[in-house]
Amino acid sequence: MNNSRTALKTAMAMSEPFCFTDQSYSPNKIYGKNVFSLRIMQERLPKNVFTRLEKVIKTNGTLQEGDADVIASAMKDWAIENGATHYTHWFQPMTGVTAEKHDSFFSPSSAHNDGNLLNEFSGKMLIKGEPDASSFPSGGIRSTFEARGYTAWDPTSPVFLLENTHGKTLYVPSVFISYTGESLDRKTPLLRSNEAVSKQALRILRLFGNTKAGNVYPMVGIEQEYFLIDRRHAALRDDLKLCGRTLYGAMSDKGQELEDHYFGSINERILSFMADVEKQMFSLGIPAKTRHNEVAPAQFELAPVFEPVNLAIDHNMLTMQILRNTAEKHGFYCLLHEKPFAGVNGSGKHNNWSLCDSEGNNLLDPGQTPMDNAQFLVFLCAVLRAVRKNAVLLRLATIGAGNDHRLGANEAPPAILSVFLGTQLTAVIEDIADISHESKEWKQDIMQIGITSLPHFSKDVSDRNRTSPFAFTGNKFEFRAVGSSASSAPANIALNTAMASALDEIAIELETELTKGASLTKAVNSTLKKFFKEDLAIVFNGNGYSQEWQEEAKKRGLPDLKDSVSVLKQYNTDDIMNVLTHYQVLNERELLARQDILLENYIRDIHVEIKLTHSMGKEIILPACMAYLNTLAESAKNAQILLQDAANGFELQYYRTVRENTEALYHALDALDKEHKRVDSLHGALPRAEETRDTLIPLMNKCRYFADTLEKLVDDSIWPLPKYNEMLW
Ligand code: ADP
Ligand code: MG
Repeated sequence: MNNSRTALKTAMAMSEPFCFTDQSYSPNKIYGKNVFSLRIMQERLPKNVFTRLEKVIKTNGTLQEGDADVIASAMKDWAIENGATHYTHWFQPMTGVTAEKHDSFFSPSSAHNDGNLLNEFSGKMLIKGEPDASSFPSGGIRSTFEARGYTAWDPTSPVFLLENTHGKTLYVPSVFISYTGESLDRKTPLLRSNEAVSKQALRILRLFGNTKAGNVYPMVGIEQEYFLIDRRHAALRDDLKLCGRTLYGAMSDKGQELEDHYFGSINERILSFMADVEKQMFSLGIPAKTRHNEVAPAQFELAPVFEPVNLAIDHNMLTMQILRNTAEKHGFYCLLHEKPFAGVNGSGKHNNWSLCDSEGNNLLDPGQTPMDNAQFLVFLCAVLRAVRKNAVLLRLATIGAGNDHRLGANEAPPAILSVFLGTQLTAVIEDIADISHESKEWKQDIMQIGITSLPHFSKDVSDRNRTSPFAFTGNKFEFRAVGSSASSAPANIALNTAMASALDEIAIELETELTKGASLTKAVNSTLKKFFKEDLAIVFNGNGYSQEWQEEAKKRGLPDLKDSVSVLKQYNTDDIMNVLTHYQVLNERELLARQDILLENYIRDIHVEIKLTHSMGKEIILPACMAYLNTLAESAKNAQILLQDAANGFELQYYRTVRENTEALYHALDALDKEHKRVDSLHGALPRAEETRDTLIPLMNKCRYFADTLEKLVDDSIWPLPKYNEMLW
């Protein structure tokens, strides 16, 4: 039998390890070289245009007529001087990946094409693009006969150059909207949610006497986990190439139990890859900071320094692209899927989030003075309210067929949303809420808010709870339930909107108290007391993986939505519709469209897996098992001839075991195929999604179970798929 896997194994055993070296790399020289940054804008734009643009970027001003032409012209000159040949609007449709359509800067200078080229890039071309967008998901907002969608320049994220082997392309970060103005992307609602949270946060700041801040914006740092395997292994596995995860594969003989990978010394070839990734990130002004081995074998993490949320998300989308492309170049295959390998940890994305005012103050930092402390507690109070009242909205931001493998599976946060505050801070708010607490060694320190200073909540490593989906870590919250392959936009849209709503509620309460003549201190005290009492149910500092927590959470009335379909079903409930529409983040039409798109995405993802489970099972695994059955039958027959008692011999027993499993696999594959066809013909996205979850996924798991059992029985030299041992170690 011609077996590519064993041939590859031999070839890899004999091949030279390789890695790229580049000792000349200097972060200082390279940082931001491919970005039309504020610094470059200042150099190249007339002063008044620059001032207006800077204001748009930093505090939401507006440009004047004619500014776009001046800016476009400067961008074009800079881009062409730096080797660009094309430009593209770059946007984030609901597919989960970014989209682009390149146009050349150059066109013939006359209608007669006299041999000369002209380069052009006007303000109009910068501001608006008109891709024929009929194939992007719109959830019925845009039918094919009115296919026009617009991309529109987002000046708050700088344009940049991406290099290819034959030059560079100028990328213009853009929103994507329908002809009728509905958002068809993830950036539009994000920008709207930024405005909503800014408006409400400013209201609170004004009550605290802050007249300087002109704007409040979320700051976000996204930690990205990923797997790297040898590209040659991926080449032999269609499941990895098409689905990003193994649909078959028995657990490796060594998993993560020795804990020898996490933070271990980084292998030379991997380090060379990481350095190359960082170099490209730096040239795009993405501040890569941390790199390390993660818990699972072949798993790694990369984290940049936090930035304004819009930029952080654009940068994360780019980072994922860089990871994938650079992996190819280095002979690796990068897996961003949430669960590429069963039996070892999957990957997530930690979304570190805080609010910052335009003066650079972090509003989630406890601060030094009593007044700072009081303001911090008000924002903390808003976070608790935001999460408690919008747990389902936040859970919605973490859905995805891939993430369903992780959430609640004792390796990632549970599907129940709660907030970790640590014992100190919890004691403070229990005290304010007048809820007795047993061990308050430092109770003396907590007095009336606004009179005494809070202790500083340093990021105490021992106090950090890895099992919490939403943890306070000193001066930011870490939302840990986002999937590794997902855009972080939904998480931040949900957070910003929930926070806007909570701040709004608190502002109303404070304003009412103040109108009645209460002092600010008094108003803050009574408001905090009332709100903390109601919201303490969302605080949980214990082990989120435990069974007791699931029971406790139920008592507290916290939702526990275990899978994407259950969550999506709630998308059009009043609670969610009201908050998103009230703060004008999504209108009703956009929202219903999104529900539909996300259900369809879920179905599509899993149906590809089902088709592939079927075809790999039938075309690759069954034939290998059948071939082995022949060999075993031959042994059993020979034993019979030689020893005459083969009926009791192990040869026949072995044959029977392999045959039983093979037969079971055959029937499971058949059932999967039949049920798939039935489910596919059902009407409506929700019923199809529910049947996919309830019928098809269990059947797919059944196929895998028999195939994985067979992998451990069949002669290694004829097993066709690269095994976990080979891919992970
Ligand atoms: P870990 O959670 O792995 O210990 P770190 O504490 O180093 O990681 O930080 C994780 C991420 O949080 C980084 O991207 C970092 O830039 C970001 N971060 C730090 N401070 C803030 C902040 N105030 N707001 C938002 N993100 C922050
Ligand atoms: Mg973290």
